[in-house]
Amino acid sequence: MIEGIFMRATLIYGAGDVRVEDVADPVLREPTDAVVRVLRSCICGSDLWPYRSMPPADEGQRIGHEFLGVVDDTGSEVAGFTAGDLVVAPFVWADNTCDFCREGLQTSCRHGGQWGAPGVDGGQGEAARVPLAQGTLVKLPMGEDSALLPSLLTLSDVFSTGHHCAVKAGVGPRTTVTVIGDGAVGLCAVLAARRLGAERIVLMGHHKDRTDLGREFGATDVVAERGAEGVEKVRELTGGDGTHAVLECVGYREAVETALGVVRDGGTVSRVGAPQYTDVPMDFGTFFRNITLTGGVAPARAYIEELMPDVLDGVVEPGRVFDLTVDLDGVPDGYRAMAAREALKVLIQP
Ligand SMILES: [Zn+2]
Repeated sequence: MIEGIFMRATLIYGAGDVRVEDVADPVLREPTDAVVRVLRSCICGSDLWPYRSMPPADEGQRIGHEFLGVVDDTGSEVAGFTAGDLVVAPFVWADNTCDFCREGLQTSCRHGGQWGAPGVDGGQGEAARVPLAQGTLVKLPMGEDSALLPSLLTLSDVFSTGHHCAVKAGVGPRTTVTVIGDGAVGLCAVLAARRLGAERIVLMGHHKDRTDLGREFGATDVVAERGAEGVEKVRELTGGDGTHAVLECVGYREAVETALGVVRDGGTVSRVGAPQYTDVPMDFGTFFRNITLTGGVAPARAYIEELMPDVLDGVVEPGRVFDLTVDLDGVPDGYRAMAAREALKVLIQP
């Protein structure tokens, strides 16, 4: 980063068109801002939605919402952080003090917002201005050469999202669980369900290398079949009943239909896959079975302090979902590799 002039960051111009360009170096604009030099960022499954469908635009849009880095500068109203601190940012910024934040719903913060919104930096660059830095950032107790950085980065989104999915479904020692989807979020949902004590975890996915990692994360059974055949298989494994909790980590209508097919009567379907559908088929049949539908966007900020100790102690290693590392110049190829399913999740080391 050349101080005060330009830095390099990722912009998306349309489907399949991601570029790394010079942009204005971030500076403090508000006394509540901090500037963070990015050490690690990554590409999210949700970044692939615009990568697949965004109409072409003349002006690029900043992208990326998961990052950790080193505090470079802080505004006069940012307490508790100084230059040199290693920090992680959750995938939305928030004051962490309003009524929603105090209820653990920082994604609904009255003053917060999203990375990459107009006037706000994205995470896939050399640095970022962090609005409401005191509420948004969480300090990490290690140096910038720590081998734990990839796992700590997952607190920003993917592991916190898997955890949220399991929490909303009420997963605990006495629940049986089905996880739908073997992407990074699905695998993190397996890890989270295991961490919360679930002993039976059925992972539905058909990419063997991914479901193998899912087994290492705690899946006890893998079902590769999809649709009605997959539902049948899960029911066979569970004495015909299905599981108490179903963690839907895909976002397609077919996955929701599968979820409703494999959930046990009285059970809960929790969804964190960004929905690519508008209707949920919950008819009289699901009503009669007392199925609960829950889930939604994960307030990662609410979980970071709770999940961090197990990452620091090596109890969980969610960073194992990263199977490709690129530098900033490699970001466009990282998008291509993830969209082509050649990579599970791409780590960016600017
Ligand atoms: Zn708030």
